Amino acid sequence: MNYNINSLIPYIPTNEYDAVAEEFLHLYCEEALLRPMAIPIEHIAKNELGLDVKYIRLSEECDIYGMTIFSDGIVEVYDPAECLYDSKIFKRKTILIDPEAVKKTNLGCRNNTLAHECVHWYKHRLYYKMQSYTSTRQAKYCKCRVENLPNITEDENIMEAQARGIAPRILMPRATFIEAADQVGIKCKNENRDAIARLAKMFNVSRQSVRIRLNECGLL
Ligand SMILES: [Zn+2]
Repeated sequence: MNYNINSLIPYIPTNEYDAVAEEFLHLYCEEALLRPMAIPIEHIAKNELGLDVKYIRLSEECDIYGMTIFSDGIVEVYDPAECLYDSKIFKRKTILIDPEAVKKTNLGCRNNTLAHECVHWYKHRLYYKMQSYTSTRQAKYCKCRVENLPNITEDENIMEAQARGIAPRILMPRATFIEAADQVGIKCKNENRDAIARLAKMFNVSRQSVRIRLNECGLL
């Protein structure tokens, strides 16, 4: 894997996203490369990557669905009971998921959000380690938004695209996904409504996520 030597962002062309997802599963859930299954992503986040997963509201407008925290420090979160933002201290290696905002994401699936934050930890922690040398009081974190804002940096854009691209490939690894699609009778140009629902259940992801993955694999 190549890194930008100044920023420590990994260079991952989109045609290598499948390979990165497979490398992740090889390390943390080998079984998923052998047979179609729902990836136990929360278990992997907690027990394999050693991340603390917390479900907490992050914004009033539900426009931030997840955060990964790379250094100890203060993070602003939203308290819906008081209708106020509040500063809280979180530890490094914490994932924050906003359960309300997740419903607004394109893929509307908690597992996809967990996988997305796992990719940030797996591939982007060196970048944030570099950043943490500049200020110590504020936690270093990435904030994942339902809609990308125009003012996010080029670095953040690259890493966000990588996490968005790799997360569904972890949850639906190419070879076993294609095998399962064949088993449930996915046919090119058919509506495939029931077969898609079965795949969504099998991999524990949303139907929309299955549809996108089928397209990527050239099966629809
Ligand atoms: Zn993200």
